Amino acid sequence: MRALIEELAQAVGSSHVLTDPSTRAPFETDWTRRWSAPALAVVRPADCDQVAAVLRACSRHGIGVVPQGGNTGLVGGSTPRAGVDQVVLSLTRLTEVGPVDLAASSVSVGAGVTLARLQAIAHEAGLDAGLDLGARDSATIAGLAACDAGGLRAIRYGTARTRVAGLRAVLSDGRIIDRRAGLLKDNAGYDLPALLIGSEGTLAVITDVVWRLVPRLDARALALIPVDGFDAAVALVAGVRPVLPSLELCELMTDAGVALTADHLAMSRPVDPAPAYVLLECAATTDPLEELAEALHAAGVGDRAVVATDAASHARLLRLREAHTEAIAAAGVAHKIDVGVPLRGLAAFADQATAIVRDAAPEAQLILFGHLGDGNLHVNILGLHDEADRVEHEILALAIQAGGTISAEHGIGVQKAEHLPLLRGPDELRTMADIKAALDPPGILNPGVLLAR
Ligand SMILES: Cc1cc2nc3c(=O)[nH]c(=O)nc-3n(C[C@H](O)[C@H](O)[C@H](O)COP(=O)(O)OP(=O)(O)OC[C@H]3O[C@@H](n4cnc5c(N)ncnc54)[C@H](O)[C@@H]3O)c2cc1C
Repeated sequence: MRALIEELAQAVGSSHVLTDPSTRAPFETDWTRRWSAPALAVVRPADCDQVAAVLRACSRHGIGVVPQGGNTGLVGGSTPRAGVDQVVLSLTRLTEVGPVDLAASSVSVGAGVTLARLQAIAHEAGLDAGLDLGARDSATIAGLAACDAGGLRAIRYGTARTRVAGLRAVLSDGRIIDRRAGLLKDNAGYDLPALLIGSEGTLAVITDVVWRLVPRLDARALALIPVDGFDAAVALVAGVRPVLPSLELCELMTDAGVALTADHLAMSRPVDPAPAYVLLECAATTDPLEELAEALHAAGVGDRAVVATDAASHARLLRLREAHTEAIAAAGVAHKIDVGVPLRGLAAFADQATAIVRDAAPEAQLILFGHLGDGNLHVNILGLHDEADRVEHEILALAIQAGGTISAEHGIGVQKAEHLPLLRGPDELRTMADIKAALDPPGILNPGVLLAR
């Protein structure tokens, strides 16, 4: 391995090849603390050419490469696998930002630019990133693209796939795919960038992204509505969605999640306990409060809605939902299962998932929350032990039975690679493996992620 380390040092400079265990450590454990393993080295290139040089060196030596952005992924795809020689390729030094193109409403940024920075750049230009999530201060633009992240505003603006207008990426043998023109219309040949979005670092390393921005909407209204359960939550969505063109956020929480998160934030609960809560936010150029209030009234929930009255209460209610992930992490190492289910089957899915957990581990704590408008439920379980694999398997199978997916926005990672055949048939899996072999012939990019080996 000495020869590889020397080649890596030549490619990026020896101070950017971290081999000391203490400097490597933050790159070796994932955000959830479920996955942790040592890397041969952590390599920190500064630009696309250096990324290509690193990949060529690792290909020559047959050493696995784990691309890593902000390391906020939740499925074990951004840290090394135990017992395998791998290098972590950290992209956080690729932070170049191009000028905002107002006419095209886009900006080209380096892989390592954080979502928060992109949002600030967009805001300064009178625009917005059109994507938001709780990990914004660390999650990188390439990480969002690699996972096809969704987040809090996908109901209006779509997932990362919708926002990526172009990208540049390096294949494992150093070939470069450069589609940074960012054209809305460009159907000359296979859409290679589309293939890379959601590929979780298994096909190429993304070095630059051209991101589509959206108009900045500063007039916002927010309401928290307690409801009797998931059926009532879905009925509320059906009532308000068609009449609220300004709807930008439509989230679901349960009492267990609200109690835990309010405690974690040392915040008093903003409403009396209820089985579930729907959080709605509208955004427009003029105050959408009246529109929101009318829609809630027409849906028959106007009298029980808690409406944010000022910026502070608005921020507090948003924070209550957003801090669920960190409150759960503070309570322990959770099993996090991110599923998508058609809205019509959401309540039945939740009941059955609850029964699975209760039967398998009566002491475990189940917290359901998610992006209601997208049918995206996060099933979080604290206190699972030997029965964890069985519970995870049964809940994923249940999502498929309900006509849903085993990954709505977090990706497959290591966590669900063995479960992918539950959802994708042999022909599809074979096609995916063929694509992987064509783009990554030595098979060094994130082995074991997405496709089990
Ligand atoms: C508090 C919290 C809230 C979250 N909320 C949401 C949410 O609402 N919606 C949502 O979708 N996700 C959410 N996430 C998950 C996470 O933030 C996203 O998956 C995000 O896209 C990961 O970005 P990252 O830069 O941290 O990527 P990493 O965690 O570093 O990597 C994630 C995956 O992308 C690959 N990758 C990273 N960079 C590159 C690159 N340059 N080229 C190729 N592959 C690469 C990695 O190999 C890995 O497979 C949340 C996470 C946390 C901790």
